[in-house]
Amino acid sequence: MAQSYAAPLAKLIEEFRKMPGIGPKSAQRLAFYILGVAEGEVEELAKSLREAKKSIRYCSTCFNITVEDPCAICANAGRDRSTICVVSEPKDLIAMERAGEFKGLYHILGGVISPLDGISPESLRIKELLKRIDKGIKEVVLAINPTTEGEATVFYLTKLLKPLGIKITKIAYGLPMGSDMDYADEITLVKALEGRSEVS
Ligand code: ZN
Repeated sequence: MAQSYAAPLAKLIEEFRKMPGIGPKSAQRLAFYILGVAEGEVEELAKSLREAKKSIRYCSTCFNITVEDPCAICANAGRDRSTICVVSEPKDLIAMERAGEFKGLYHILGGVISPLDGISPESLRIKELLKRIDKGIKEVVLAINPTTEGEATVFYLTKLLKPLGIKITKIAYGLPMGSDMDYADEITLVKALEGRSEVS
């Protein structure tokens, strides 16, 4: 029989493997890293995992990740309440905020439409977006990664929102197809926002 890892180590590798983007080799590397660090550090890591899980929730308005509900952006009276920027994931909101150009509110869909991955429009927070729109919203900015799924999502949302008589714009990427918003630098994102165009 081939030599296998001691059960607790095998279990640790298995847990790491469940994480996104972690293949068997990376899982093994992470598990051995954990074995090599001081016990206090492992305790810190375990504590951070528990704390994050316990204290972090979704904003009930925009679905941003937050400790307080509503989140700091929704609660900020200084933000423009007539514009909503629709993004796919919380990391895209972070990228937009880092660029510092957008002063309105956000709505996080929780993904993009992807039939192959079983993500239908119903599994995204589109109903919740529609509920927010009748409250004095003048413009919806679609800031979704320019992938095939992202484009399909933009198309779907445009068809849905256009009849509501509000302005629908799409940010202009100076980015190649398939690129990721959170890798875009601030200047690129500011330009993308400034160059946004109305979708028809
Ligand atoms: Zn919020």
